[in-house]
Amino acid sequence: MHMRAVRYLGPGLPFVLKQVPVPQPAAGQVRVKVAACGMCHTELHFRDGLLDLGKRDVTMGHEIAGVIEAVGAGVNAARLGERVLVYYYEGCGACEYCRSGDEQLCAAPLQQPGFTSDGGYADFMVVAARNCVPVPAHVSLAEIAPMGCAGTTAIHAGKLARIRPGDWVVVHGSGGVGLALVQYATHAGARVIAVDRDTRRLELALRLGAGAAVLAGPDVNVAAQVLALCGGADVVFELVGRTATMAASLKMLARRGRYVLIGYTGDNLAVHPTDILVRELSIIGSVGSTLQDAHDVVDLVARGVICSPIDHTIKLEDFEAGLHALEAGSINGRVVITFD
Ligand SMILES: [Zn+2]
Ligand SMILES: [Zn+2]
Repeated sequence: MHMRAVRYLGPGLPFVLKQVPVPQPAAGQVRVKVAACGMCHTELHFRDGLLDLGKRDVTMGHEIAGVIEAVGAGVNAARLGERVLVYYYEGCGACEYCRSGDEQLCAAPLQQPGFTSDGGYADFMVVAARNCVPVPAHVSLAEIAPMGCAGTTAIHAGKLARIRPGDWVVVHGSGGVGLALVQYATHAGARVIAVDRDTRRLELALRLGAGAAVLAGPDVNVAAQVLALCGGADVVFELVGRTATMAASLKMLARRGRYVLIGYTGDNLAVHPTDILVRELSIIGSVGSTLQDAHDVVDLVARGVICSPIDHTIKLEDFEAGLHALEAGSINGRVVITFD
């Protein structure tokens, strides 16, 4: 039995749609029939060579939702037919980070679907049963799929930022993760300012809870506009990662402000120490999410606290068009690949 899969062959090379064998679940694993897979900027980072984890000829896609349709040895057969969101880290289980639930920090992960092992740009994928988070019947799999990365990344970063009610929070870049952060921070009681260079995305951010929006552009002093709105941000989430946006993000922080780095490009963060120490700023890196974050995002979506805006859905064979749309930056929410 064969299936379709979009494969990464190496840095700088285009992805290729191939026929590959349908994978069999090993002990402790399940096979998921993929129903939907969100498209993340990470895929562009792979293709462009910005992110290279050393693996070749692997299936892309880590925002995966589907239905368990086969179980390996030792997995309860009652899980057959379960609708699930896939958590995309499987840590070694033995290091101090794994033991404390922070397997996104594990130095020797066993599997990372869509990164170092086969992901969800395919009809089927296999993953550890424990990585499959149950999705309630009233939540659509197309809606929950992008939350597997966009939503979990936002929740993880939101927790690390320790948002307090009344905080001024700037979401610098209102793409998939940014829009989830707007909702998460709003729910946490923060006053949220969304920044983006796309008016449609800012309109959506305002609808999802942001109290103010700043339209970025080549001749716009974003930091000055944010400072005029709030006098200084308690938290800035960096989702863009360009030299200019990072410099602006640091400028707009209040004393004791927390700068949370999530999105990146090939640009470096350049800052003089006095810009950090005089205001006692904290710089916080946030990578991925924990299994608990994945359970939390399903709960938040199921209760209507966070919604998952979908720009449009596409078929697997049209993945190139999806990548182009991502690259053009014209996406409002996520592009999601759906399967029949
Ligand atoms: Zn580990
Ligand atoms: Zn992602």
